[in-house]
Amino acid sequence: MAKKRQFQTESKRLLDLMINSIYTHKEIFLRELISNASDAIDKRHYNSLTDASIAGDDYNILIEKDEDLRTLTITDNGIGLTEDELISNLGIIAKSGTKEFKENIKDLNDLEIIGQFGVGFYSAFMVSKKVTVYSKSVYSEKGYKWESTGTETYTIDECDITNPGTKIVLSLRDNSEELEEDFDEYLKEYKIKELVKKYSDYIRYPIKTETTNYNYSNEDNEEPTVTKSIEIINSMIPLWKKSKNDIEEKELFEFYQHQFNDFQDPLFHLHSKVEGNLSFTSLLFVPKKAPYDLYTEKFEKGLMLYTNGVMIMEKTKELLPDYLRFVKGLVDSNDLSLNISREMLQQDKQLKKIAVTIEKKILNELEKMLKRDRELYNEFYNVYGVNLKYGIYDNFGAKKDDLKELILFKTTNNDDLITLKEYTESLLTDQKYIYYASGKNKAQINALPQMDLIKDKGYNVLMLTDDVDEFMINVLSKYNEIEFKSINQGDLDLKDEELEEQVNEKQEVSKGMLEGIKEALGDKITDVKLSKRLKDSPVCLVSTEGVSLEMEKVLNNMPIENQTKAQKVLEINPNHDLFKALENLYENDKSLLADYSDLLYNQALMIEGMQVENPVEFSNRMVKLMIIANKKNED
Ligand code: ADP
Ligand code: MG
Repeated sequence: MAKKRQFQTESKRLLDLMINSIYTHKEIFLRELISNASDAIDKRHYNSLTDASIAGDDYNILIEKDEDLRTLTITDNGIGLTEDELISNLGIIAKSGTKEFKENIKDLNDLEIIGQFGVGFYSAFMVSKKVTVYSKSVYSEKGYKWESTGTETYTIDECDITNPGTKIVLSLRDNSEELEEDFDEYLKEYKIKELVKKYSDYIRYPIKTETTNYNYSNEDNEEPTVTKSIEIINSMIPLWKKSKNDIEEKELFEFYQHQFNDFQDPLFHLHSKVEGNLSFTSLLFVPKKAPYDLYTEKFEKGLMLYTNGVMIMEKTKELLPDYLRFVKGLVDSNDLSLNISREMLQQDKQLKKIAVTIEKKILNELEKMLKRDRELYNEFYNVYGVNLKYGIYDNFGAKKDDLKELILFKTTNNDDLITLKEYTESLLTDQKYIYYASGKNKAQINALPQMDLIKDKGYNVLMLTDDVDEFMINVLSKYNEIEFKSINQGDLDLKDEELEEQVNEKQEVSKGMLEGIKEALGDKITDVKLSKRLKDSPVCLVSTEGVSLEMEKVLNNMPIENQTKAQKVLEINPNHDLFKALENLYENDKSLLADYSDLLYNQALMIEGMQVENPVEFSNRMVKLMIIANKKNED
């Protein structure tokens, strides 16, 4: 008689999450079950070292499908589970990864993080309406059957099993057109192979499944002969675990192309092993071409993370700084071992350590390349240089000293790209600054009036062609104690005392109105002022010290998380009819001041070539004023 048992409360909650999961990467259930199988074989093997009686042979993991019954079966000849273990390991969230997961997940919206945890056995319920586990422990005479539909209860019953090990039968859920879920996929040979390749390729034990072979060799017959055989579908030995000398370049490039969907060979790669407190192997690639979406928000940077041959995360963003987002590859560390998915906090610390080492390695490699293979470096720089510049600018220049030697510039006196070192080595004797100018090309910069004197002197000028260049120069501020100087620098402020007095007076008179506008605009602006620089336009935006509007525009085009904004001041032209209209409004119809303010602010944004902040609201306000204007005509 099958015994019915209740799941522990915590487990019920987790099961509930799994079953109602809207998580799109349900496919990871296979990774989890294969990892468990592999762990079980590990345990059997390990224990057999001191107890030969439990040793097995031909350790393997078998995946079988039955299209008619819609079942997927995963069988291992690992250590197996006793009755008690079935109860305590599958019925309770004990110390296993699922517990961590449960603690970190608060509601269904958090489900995107599932993939980052070892969610374990229960993930089977994301794809199954019923899970049946047949298991016999190496330490038990009897076999047991555990079964559950993932609701309140599970059953346990004795059953006949000859060999130790575990067989897990998943009765797949019904397809749902509404949710666009097709569970039949997991019954397809290609899908099983794909998932094993993707997540479990480097599991140390053979993963087998029935494979269809097409033999075209029979000459007269156009139809191939079809045979079926059980084949190993994982490669078992990770390429990166081989010693460098044993890896052929061809093999490496094939791996790269296959793994990272590139049809070209990489520009260069970096394979290294780090031994120490935290040992890891990394295999990194820089693609010849930047991915088309590298600079979009959609782009996900990150390295694949393996531990013990199991891929834990596909894009581990913690492993790469933003400015190296173009690097592809993987990290494998057995020291993270099972902890990686089990203990997030520890994982953070260890990942950070690895990330620091990896960053250093990449920069070292680039420095070496700059010295030894300038042609390759130039090729690299032409594609990815802008990222390095961004790296200097990012994080308040924290990385500037590591990166400044790697930056190349076009200059007015050189045909080739040069480094800052090369620039300063050829300073003329009376030259005190590193000069720079923004412009599209040499001709344009040379035509600037400010260049006349500099050309006479023969000074070389760095050409700033990328948006980020000026930000970077600002952050660098000096190179080897030599300051940067823009050739456009100089106080262009034309002081006009009469105008100033006039504006100040008006400013005093319309104080109330200006404050009203300021209040209406809230934290969008830092101040509202009457302008001393406008002639024909009604309003403009200017920035205070620090980030300029130009810079903000550039920043808006960058995939950065915390956008820096310019501190904006709205300037109103006191000699424009609009100013009079505002005064009038303030006197007679204050209720509209907020609408006017918002429209003016957004107009000023548009004039600066920036985006209207809330187009719908903007349009609604405009329409409101149009209707009012029309009503006035009717009256
Ligand atoms: P974790 O693998 O993190 O321990 P799981 O939820 O994946 O968490 O598995 C829970 C437990 O169930 C495992 O620790 C193991 O004791 C047991 N288990 C799961 N699958 C197997 C299996 N194929 N063979 C033996 N034991 C298993
Ligand atoms: Mg597990």
